[in-house]
Amino acid sequence: MPKREASETVKQKGEAMAIRHKKILVRMSMLLAIAALSITTTRAVIAAVQKPAISAEQALKLLLEGNERFVAGKVEHPNQTQAQRAEVAKGQHPFAAVLACSDSRTPPEIIFDRGLGDIFTVRVAGNVTDQLVIESLDYSVKHLGVRLVMVLGHRRCGAVIAAVEGYEEVNKDVGPMLLDLYPAVRATQGMPGDPVENAVRENVKLVVKTLAASGELSAMVKSGELKIVGGIYDLDTGTIEMLKN
Ligand SMILES: [Zn+2]
Repeated sequence: MPKREASETVKQKGEAMAIRHKKILVRMSMLLAIAALSITTTRAVIAAVQKPAISAEQALKLLLEGNERFVAGKVEHPNQTQAQRAEVAKGQHPFAAVLACSDSRTPPEIIFDRGLGDIFTVRVAGNVTDQLVIESLDYSVKHLGVRLVMVLGHRRCGAVIAAVEGYEEVNKDVGPMLLDLYPAVRATQGMPGDPVENAVRENVKLVVKTLAASGELSAMVKSGELKIVGGIYDLDTGTIEMLKN
């Protein structure tokens, strides 16, 4: 082969290799771009679920949608993965706080079909409130960004039954839990209907009012930054009835 032709062939081979390398580099950078995009997208989706700096309305919607899934037997168990455990270990950003009864049949994470890091929960028999409860909820609002607090009573609540059955106008021997339930019993005495059902509902309304008027939370409620709502959980159907205060 003449020298010139030989050098042309070498040149062509070199160009072909350069083109192949270029194509490989382009393909690799495209793959990297796609990978980066998918990581960003996944992070964005996770962030939307895990760091829900959301309004009270959006938070209530999330809770009620979860409850609808629970009622329909179509639970999704969101945010209950190992990945979520690792994510929330770095810090919590719950989107709602719930004050519920200690009753084993009313765990908020289950009846609202939520997972780790979603709901800041305070539970005490009869879902009554005192300074400890207020300070716990205040922490979730001031330090964790919660903008919705739900007080959740439930039908046939044992604590309320005890308060209704043991109610006396002057009873100095009972503990603070029953004493905290007595205002609801007192307010519903003589009302038509089931006295326990009436007291359960009244208690939720009174606790909502107490929280909204508390020194820690009242300013944010007044400015509209924070919503405190009341609901009643039905043990039989699993549904939540939202109360109007
Ligand atoms: Zn209860």
